[in-house]
Amino acid sequence: MSAAPHPVYEVVIGLEVHAQLRTRSKLFSPAPVTYGAEPNHAVHPICLALPGVLPVLNGRAVELAIRVALASRCHVQPQSVFARKNYFYPDLPKGYQISQYEEPLATGGWLDVRMPDENGGARRVRLTRIHMEEDAGKSIHDAAIAGDATHVDLNRAGVALLEIVSEPDLRSPAEAAAYLRALRSLLRYVDASDADMERGNFRCDANISLRRHGESKLGTRTELKNLNSFRFVEAALEAEILRQAGILDAGGKVVQATLQFDPASGRTRILRLKENADDYRYFPDPDLVPLLLSDAQIERVRAGLPELADARCERFQREHGLAEDDARLLCESRALADFFEAAASRHGDGASLANWIRRDVLHALAEHGLEIEQAKLAPAALADLVKRVREGGVTAQSARALVPELVNKGGDPLRLIQERGLEAVSDTGALEAAVDAVLREHAGHVERLRAGEEKVRNFLIGQVMKRTGGKADPAALRRVLAQRLGESGS
Ligand code: ADP
Ligand code: MG
Repeated sequence: MSAAPHPVYEVVIGLEVHAQLRTRSKLFSPAPVTYGAEPNHAVHPICLALPGVLPVLNGRAVELAIRVALASRCHVQPQSVFARKNYFYPDLPKGYQISQYEEPLATGGWLDVRMPDENGGARRVRLTRIHMEEDAGKSIHDAAIAGDATHVDLNRAGVALLEIVSEPDLRSPAEAAAYLRALRSLLRYVDASDADMERGNFRCDANISLRRHGESKLGTRTELKNLNSFRFVEAALEAEILRQAGILDAGGKVVQATLQFDPASGRTRILRLKENADDYRYFPDPDLVPLLLSDAQIERVRAGLPELADARCERFQREHGLAEDDARLLCESRALADFFEAAASRHGDGASLANWIRRDVLHALAEHGLEIEQAKLAPAALADLVKRVREGGVTAQSARALVPELVNKGGDPLRLIQERGLEAVSDTGALEAAVDAVLREHAGHVERLRAGEEKVRNFLIGQVMKRTGGKADPAALRRVLAQRLGESGS
């Protein structure tokens, strides 16, 4: 979906992202963090808000939050404070959510995002703040489970969330999606979150307003809640642009509100008029002391950060001789970059490995809807296969045909080549026979080649390839063809 810029209005978008931190237990209770467990089985008196319980802050969650803050160049605050955000909802047993409000964990960072509309150039998207909070439970309205009633599952209640708030620096739905992808990559790089939208551990609220081109004052925004796929983020924003533009075109005023996107109708619908922060009666949680972080603690976390995408991308170009585009593509996902590096460390020739990954491996993954982490293809196996091609032991054509199977089922490519009889035909006798047959069948083409029409050579080579089932070693084939044509110097 790449709509052209709106002719009259500039689109302004700021995103609030909630990412579940990858911890074993919840933010303030020892209940386990699970996915797909039986409802209300991953709970503890603290997340159920039974009388007399006290929250205990999860140190690992703090460490992961600091990792994200540092990786996104935020300033980690020496003191942050947990506050109570009061509201009533059945999936919130305490009657308030513990969140950071006036004093968040971190402020003022940025992400350099490669924007789709800027010829692949990067633009800086500023972060306002990053803070920690706890997730709520889930209300289940599914008639098959709950009938007319609503059930509540508290397994998610109290799970550690990171909220990452961007400045209103995004200018189109496509830019919003690009930013989300960059943020997801960063969260995964530092092992802070699975950041998987489908599993609900990466969720996005999108704030959007329009203003006339050239206007410096921001327009009135609306907030689109709980967009849970990249496709919906873009579709919802496109729909909201249309809705707001319609109001403004008619001389009306956009009302600040919270909206929901209905994928079925492709329209946005007002849920409630915008509540004020006042409505939540925020105050510091008296059960929790302020979170104090020393420079030494912060630096210890910094020292444990892995090499981040930008640095790695530069190193891949320098050390492995990769083109910038290839390096960038590989480094977008830490798992893919790891895969590449493991393969390259086995046989070198990074540029050609990158090419195979880009052209064949990613293609096979996409076809089966897999991520590289789920592929059965071992980095060493890809390295072996590519090396075999380089040595002339198998043609690129035969090798490529093996990639989908290796991705799906794994296995040793060298054994597969042998078992399937895919070894390249470089045996001169066999090649001579095939070449002679082709020259006989295509006497006309031979005449044209002899007359200097060089492109006919590829046709003849193609014919020999066909006869050998794609197994002719290309170098040997060229040599034999030249010999049989009586060309000198070959
Ligand atoms: P709240 O927490 O009440 O939603 P914030 O001031 O924290 O309000 O803003 C939340 C998000 O809204 C931020 O990502 C910010 O960039 C974005 N935002 C604020 N004003 C606008 C606007 N006029 N148009 C688009 N986005 C906006
Ligand atoms: Mg908001």
